[in-house]
Amino acid sequence: MTYQTFSPFDGTLIQDFADISPHEYETKVARAQACFESWRHKSYAERATVIARAATLLRDQTDALAATMTLEMGKRIGEARAEVAFSARILDYYATNAERFLAPVKLHPVHGEAHMESSPIGVIFAVEPWNFPYYQLARVAGPHLMAGNTLVVKHAGIVPQCALAFERVLREAGAPDGLYTNLFVSHEQSEKLLDDPRIKGVCLTGSVAAGSSIAARAGKNLKVSSMELGGSDAFIVLEDADLDLVIPWAVWGRMYNCGQTCCAAKRFIVVESMADAFIERFKAALGALEAGDPMDERTTLGPLSSEAALVQLLGQVDEAVAKGATLLLGGNRIARPGAFMEPSILTDIAPDNPAFRDEFFGPVALFFRVKDEATAIALANDCDFGLGGSVWTRDSARGQRVASQVDTGMMFINNLDWTDAELPFGGIKASGYGRELGDMGIQQFVNKKLVRTNPIKAPA
Ligand code: NAP
Repeated sequence: MTYQTFSPFDGTLIQDFADISPHEYETKVARAQACFESWRHKSYAERATVIARAATLLRDQTDALAATMTLEMGKRIGEARAEVAFSARILDYYATNAERFLAPVKLHPVHGEAHMESSPIGVIFAVEPWNFPYYQLARVAGPHLMAGNTLVVKHAGIVPQCALAFERVLREAGAPDGLYTNLFVSHEQSEKLLDDPRIKGVCLTGSVAAGSSIAARAGKNLKVSSMELGGSDAFIVLEDADLDLVIPWAVWGRMYNCGQTCCAAKRFIVVESMADAFIERFKAALGALEAGDPMDERTTLGPLSSEAALVQLLGQVDEAVAKGATLLLGGNRIARPGAFMEPSILTDIAPDNPAFRDEFFGPVALFFRVKDEATAIALANDCDFGLGGSVWTRDSARGQRVASQVDTGMMFINNLDWTDAELPFGGIKASGYGRELGDMGIQQFVNKKLVRTNPIKAPA
């Protein structure tokens, strides 16, 4: 059984969902293809009517949608509501701006006239993770549907009700049959989809393992792909940083969504003169978080998304310690039902410790002391991932300089204001390729066609 709702808060199995049958698979993919043939010819205004209505419905149904998310993957209810609101904003953003982003672009050849025009390419397959059950779907539905493509979507196995809820919202918004289709497919069926000639591209957000497997299959079929994968972002604190600003962001950056965010602050790299003060305050702030029901607004520490995620993270911490790291805080499961873990800090992590390179997807901070700015940058770059990162300093020119030297797709100076509908999101190295959101996010799955007019005779 691939799709199940388990409560990570108390460990109960709530509902099973069957994988789709071969017949359903065929019907749904055929409908997505048939829908593309009409949707591609709709005007931007017609498409925007559906997408903007879906945004309104998301807003109208915030409480119920957020509760489903909290039930399935344990996100604290306040964060869940904010995610629904942000998802609506992304849909609105593309409903408003898609036509401008995809307008023909005039080129300037020496002879004649030319322009590029953008047209949709067909059915796109989206593979999405559980950590942002609606935001991730909005990130692909907004741009790719507004561009004139249709979508078939494989959501993560642990959030089937969120997957169905988002599909229902689009249907209620007037989406034609086949425009946006949730597919409860297995990994094997996903491979079949990538081999299916009706599928023209794939976007995936998830782990490196999933990304390299799906990207390889897409490559074999010469299909365009974009990959948003993991990260181990550096949080660089320089000696002139304002700790009153830094500490709350450090806690938020590591603990938001219970630490299960691709671009979360994961490696805290602090210049020697600040290190003692930073770690004392950071440790106290993390230690003050209290486990509770994620449906309760007052809870400061929710569960991880699943028992499996907890077991994996505890194993990573144990291995790090066995290989020489020091546990400064936490490291254990919390003695109560559900997938709760103590906020934790590891230090003394040598380069040959697996913890030095691995992503910790949960409430575990890796702490490094460094002698100066140059060492901090070198350590930040000694990483297989290249998603985001931040630098903390009172000197904004210095912040810009450091940001330019860190090899990632995104850098934040004195903030962790990670994502906005208007701004491109994505990474380099093992964090993947391609960008979602902003203008770039809608350009991924469109044909950029050159059209040239030049009334000349053929060369003799
Ligand atoms: P995951 O195991 O890779 O799952 C992500 C999605 O891929 C799920 O729908 C999963 O389905 C599917 N999947 C995995 N292997 C597959 C395969 N061989 N064939 C077809 N589908 C496959 O990732 P996760 O651990 O749940 O999610 C967290 C990861 O996502 C972290 O590494 C995080 O950093 C990354 N992430 C990145 C971004 C970004 O924008 N860069 C954003 C959020 C998360 P099943 O659930 O059915 O296995």
